[in-house]
Amino acid sequence: MALPVHITILGGLGDIGRNCAVLESDGRLVLLDCGQLFPDDLTPGVDSIYPDFAYLDDKLDRLEAAILTHGHEDHIGAVAHLQSRRSFPLFASAFTLGLVRNRLEEAGLLAATELNEVVDGETRRIGPFDVEFLPVTHSVPSGLISAITTPQGIILHSSDFKLDLTPLDGRVTDLARIGTLATEPGIRLLLCDSTNADQPGRTASETEVGPVLESVFRAHRGRRIITACFASHVHRVAQISAIAVAEGRRVATLGLSMKRNVALARDLGMLKIPDTSIVDVEEVERFEPGEVCVISTGSQAEDRSALALAAKGESRWIQIGADDTVILSSTAIPGNEAAVGRMMNNLVERGARVEHAGVLGLHTSGHGKADELRTLHATARPEWFVPVHGEHRHLIAHLELAESIGMSGDRTLLARDGDRIVIDDDGIRIDHGVTSGRHLYRHAQFVSYEHRPIGDRIVLGNGGLVSVVVVVDPDRLELAAEPEVTSRGWLADGDTAELHDELVEEVAGAVVAAFDDGIDDRPELERRVRRATGQFVNQRTRRRPMILTSVVEV
Ligand SMILES: [Zn+2]
Ligand SMILES: [Zn+2]
Repeated sequence: MALPVHITILGGLGDIGRNCAVLESDGRLVLLDCGQLFPDDLTPGVDSIYPDFAYLDDKLDRLEAAILTHGHEDHIGAVAHLQSRRSFPLFASAFTLGLVRNRLEEAGLLAATELNEVVDGETRRIGPFDVEFLPVTHSVPSGLISAITTPQGIILHSSDFKLDLTPLDGRVTDLARIGTLATEPGIRLLLCDSTNADQPGRTASETEVGPVLESVFRAHRGRRIITACFASHVHRVAQISAIAVAEGRRVATLGLSMKRNVALARDLGMLKIPDTSIVDVEEVERFEPGEVCVISTGSQAEDRSALALAAKGESRWIQIGADDTVILSSTAIPGNEAAVGRMMNNLVERGARVEHAGVLGLHTSGHGKADELRTLHATARPEWFVPVHGEHRHLIAHLELAESIGMSGDRTLLARDGDRIVIDDDGIRIDHGVTSGRHLYRHAQFVSYEHRPIGDRIVLGNGGLVSVVVVVDPDRLELAAEPEVTSRGWLADGDTAELHDELVEEVAGAVVAAFDDGIDDRPELERRVRRATGQFVNQRTRRRPMILTSVVEV
């Protein structure tokens, strides 16, 4: 009897984001990624969303390490939060650690955190497991597949990946090693990225983007070029800067994360921009438009991002005008389309020309499509398969894909956030709902599982607020003053005064009627005020504002 192995999913199977799983054997815990999810319009006022760490509350002392597969925020964005609760060693590539280091430093946790750099092909003892790290191609450099040797055989975790046969740095996915492991000792379980499982075909190579960028640069000679892409996409930055330098342009970065990541990548020798070609963004106005290329963050039009501010004329560094061409070397992440569209309109209104991936091949995804997933499945030939990293529809599409190439339906399992994958001598099964899979919300001031403030904000945002204050004399059983009604965002200005007056009358009538019925306790009086207000608001305006009522005794 070999010891069982558990994998508890704390996030990432249901949303694209906050990827985190707990590997457990013999009472010892190792974390596989620790990411965040970016908030959207359903979570107003939230800064970020973390995995369901409640599962770890009584187990943190047994957490021995975390493996970070690559440097994207959905894999590393919650590390500092968890490190602030308990320090544990991190294992990742040099570039990933460089990105994590910035976050730990901001949180004042860097000195207390043990950082272990791993290199391609290396095997490390991590907690109760031997983990072999294999190179894999993705939209950030130095991603790692983990082949985790456990008492129950090898678990192969694909990390986020595409199968780019011609990556910019020549570092291809080590399919040969996966094939060898598949033959001997065999792969017990494959956990595989599902992001593009519902997309047919395969993704374009990163090196196919270069010639498209080059043609856009050529077509816009003499103009200032401002490009935006993800700050962690070093290979894209490398292609943009190489073209810019070849055209005799100086390169400036815009946005803190772009500046930091370019510095990190240059330090590690991953990005070669001659010192003489780099200028500070403060200096770009000194050069002719055709002599400059700015590489910026903000390709997703995030609220306070460098490019979004520049598009609104609010940048401290850059004024967008008729001499500018803006290249968006990215596609909008689902949910960001409207904001990106607004930003493009703002740029065009300022006279700039905008080129984007919607029209030209200025971007390629970092997540393999169906053909690439089939290749990985066929190489790994796993005994069992659980799709990871996806929304529900991506996970289902990935299960169907696995079955379409010959996996038996009882060897492909669907897990969701909060579920546990149990591996023992009898096989593999899913225990559902081991932990709730709740979202942990981080606001500026606090971290909580409480959803209620967010629900309230949505009600306020959609319907506004109506407040009614009633002052009564409990001895005489009469109103001590006219009820006071205030509202925000409920009605158009012209309608407010009249409806307020009517609501005052309605509430006053309800209070008098209550006294006539002999009601003298405040809770019942409050109920009646609330009911009268609610009915009035509903019948007269057909809107659903938040209603606050209070009864005060004098
Ligand atoms: Zn990811
Ligand atoms: Zn990723």
